[in-house]
Amino acid sequence: MSDRHTTHFGFQEVVENEKAQRVADVFDSVAQRYDLMNDLMSGGLHRLWKAFTIAKSGVRQGSRVLDVAGGTGDLALAFAKKLGSSEQIWLTDINNAMLTRGRDRLYDRGCMVRVAQCDAEKLPFPNDYFDCVTVAFGLRNMTHKDLALAEMQRVLRPGGRLLVLEFSQVWKPLAPAYDFYSFKVIPRLGQMITDDEASYRYLAESIRVHPDQEALKGLMERAGFERVHYFNLALGVVALHRGFKF
Ligand code: SAM
Repeated sequence: MSDRHTTHFGFQEVVENEKAQRVADVFDSVAQRYDLMNDLMSGGLHRLWKAFTIAKSGVRQGSRVLDVAGGTGDLALAFAKKLGSSEQIWLTDINNAMLTRGRDRLYDRGCMVRVAQCDAEKLPFPNDYFDCVTVAFGLRNMTHKDLALAEMQRVLRPGGRLLVLEFSQVWKPLAPAYDFYSFKVIPRLGQMITDDEASYRYLAESIRVHPDQEALKGLMERAGFERVHYFNLALGVVALHRGFKF
């Protein structure tokens, strides 16, 4: 029997140390059209889900905020608007193409957030530092979700909160329509808009192998978060999990 550790990359099982590169290839490929695709695929709903995340963040003037896997910067931009300042906001991502696009997009709007390219599994920040950490549609792509959650816990100050916005398990009666949309419509849309059907097939597959609402709650609790609660959005297409560090 092989002693090599494997993990999911969508429906494929891959050797653990290959996943990060496979994920990087996906986001290198889609970065330029990522925002357009988000609006098209969700009919603009991702904006409401992100607004709900900000509403649950509890941030106020002076709060230190870390957006992990922040990509093209939607949450960082929304935090800057809410706080009226960008000084204490960090936009981070492992992927240079996504992060560069996010940084340019924010700087073009005069929003001078701090930017760092880093792996969520090894965050370059001190212990007990941030008031709020967010990760939107990023956790699913990480090889070791437990390590990433533990890192987010480490950098939060006591009393701080983590918000995880992620695709989740849809309400059962909606599942057949959702499957059709995910596996037939989205990859075709991906092909038309980004010339990359495979990356959008990975999107649909990665959602199916991601922990459901209760399983993610358990992962967060095992990483040390307390009072973990989740909100189902769009009948569970997406869930926002919130947990506190005490
Ligand atoms: N948060 C943004 C949003 O909601 O629009 C971007 C989400 S995008 C679907 C997922 C992001 O996760 C990509 O930018 C990808 O590079 C990033 N990512 C994947 N694995 C990561 C890791 N180990 N550490 C940090 N970022 C990661």
